[in-house]
Amino acid sequence: MALTGKQLINGQWQTGEVGTFSAKDPSNGATLVPEYGIASLQQVDAAVAAAADAFAVYRQTSLAQRSAFLHACADEIMALGDALSEQVMAETGYPKGRAEGERARTCGQLHMFADYILGGEYLDPRIDTAMPDRQPIPRPDLRYVNQALGPVVVFGASNFPLAYSVAGGDTASALAAGCPVIVKGHPSHPGTGELVAQALFSAAQKTGMPAAVIQLLNDVGHEVGSALVQAPAIKAVGFTGSLKGGMALFNLANARPEPIPVFAEMGSINPVVMLPKALAQSAKELATGFVGSLTMGTGQFCVNPGLILAIDNADLTTFIDATAAALSAVPAGVMLNAGICSAYEQGASHFTDIAGVEEVGSGGNTEANSGSYAQAKLLTTDAATFLAQPALQEEVFGPLSLVVKCQNTQQIKQIINSLKGQLTGTLRAADDAELAEHLDLIDAFSQRVGRVVINGFPTGVEVCPAMVHGGPFPASTDSRFTSVGTAAIARFVRPVCYQAVPDGLLPAALQNANPLALTRVVNGNPTKDPIA
Ligand code: NAP
Repeated sequence: MALTGKQLINGQWQTGEVGTFSAKDPSNGATLVPEYGIASLQQVDAAVAAAADAFAVYRQTSLAQRSAFLHACADEIMALGDALSEQVMAETGYPKGRAEGERARTCGQLHMFADYILGGEYLDPRIDTAMPDRQPIPRPDLRYVNQALGPVVVFGASNFPLAYSVAGGDTASALAAGCPVIVKGHPSHPGTGELVAQALFSAAQKTGMPAAVIQLLNDVGHEVGSALVQAPAIKAVGFTGSLKGGMALFNLANARPEPIPVFAEMGSINPVVMLPKALAQSAKELATGFVGSLTMGTGQFCVNPGLILAIDNADLTTFIDATAAALSAVPAGVMLNAGICSAYEQGASHFTDIAGVEEVGSGGNTEANSGSYAQAKLLTTDAATFLAQPALQEEVFGPLSLVVKCQNTQQIKQIINSLKGQLTGTLRAADDAELAEHLDLIDAFSQRVGRVVINGFPTGVEVCPAMVHGGPFPASTDSRFTSVGTAAIARFVRPVCYQAVPDGLLPAALQNANPLALTRVVNGNPTKDPIA
């Protein structure tokens, strides 16, 4: 499908009314075609009104209909073929393998939600039948079910042009829940966004969904996104990006006459503890694995390992030296855009400007490259400096990591306890016996992070029912939810209790005959049986 540079509003591809912008190929700085229109506030209003109308229809679709739509979304994305991967590569600098891998993940995610909703588990139906003879007062018939929240705004993420953007996890989970989605596309990859929106719209048409079930608006500033978050008909927001951006949207949403939830996934430095026996046993192997995790995707992952905690001894020196050696062989990597590249350079300088922080290793330099390239960096400091400098807890988005040399495991624990909320916390141990000696560190991590990793690295977020991708603030704005995995759907539903509603008028999930064959908790007992 050809790129038009238009917005998708209520099933129509419309020219943006407020000027244009272009994407750039970050690998060489070249301006890409076509130009993309910027939506006007009138176009924002039109999209919001259409989403509200679509919600009235879409929320009534059956689980089977929505499942078919989600499967079709994935099929239509695959049908875009190489054109999609090539667009991703041009707009992000990602290699083909990454573009195709992310496409597979995105489609897998859509298929996963398509299958998951058929089981109806997320509806969490609970029925307490009437007890008219109960003394001293009778109990009415009470039936609880989760239902769709309303139209959702999703902000495309710069670092996941497919898996966290137009058809990413936020969109897939909102659509699965029965919520129409308006995507505010990320201006770094508008062509990728348009292609995916074309695919989703085609899927909507083929499966009989309302035209405005998926819409796409573009902007290069904050006006469109801010207006969307403030629109009364919008009921929730999904976001992945900077702390600054996420908090700006969170504050806007909370200042509305009717506040709404913002599920923002923001910064994380993903601490990794290298326990002493692990380092003594395999410092060099750990260094190799660590450098792979740190520099993958030029470090542009929210789960990038930005902080290493270990006891200062000869084994740690071996690890640092081996890491520096491995890093020196890593060429400069292309970053997503010029802004993210300069933010990385500034962030790295802020760290090295702090007395007590030393650069001990680096990757290939960026001199030979004309685009937005980053040089990987390894820094060290001591625990006292880290504890005294909250600035060292800031995320430097890119291939930079700071090793904090600690005196003992108590100091490691003190640092974990001083950290802000994180997406992940990792422990590397020689064996289960060493782990068992440090259960307190696992417990400390469990209080600070969304995912505790043992003997791995944090990069690589499996999309599956048990995944938690979230964590205490500022990793996310709501630590009760995950943005990856089937549980992500919980962000976009709310419970409603139907009291004394006649059987024929109840949602299908709650009717006596159990027509959807769901497992329901009836008078306290899980059962698929109909109610006599
Ligand atoms: P961003 O600046 O937070 O922007 C993400 C999206 O939110 C963009 O669509 C942006 O619109 C919009 N936005 C930002 N601030 C806004 C505001 N005040 N009002 C309304 N909309 C707003 O993130 P980014 O562009 O992806 O990258 C910038 C930095 O974010 C990176 O250098 C990195 O530090 C961080 N980041 C972190 C993660 C992570 O997973 N932890 C992922 C990506 C980026 P416009 O672009 O149109 O302004």
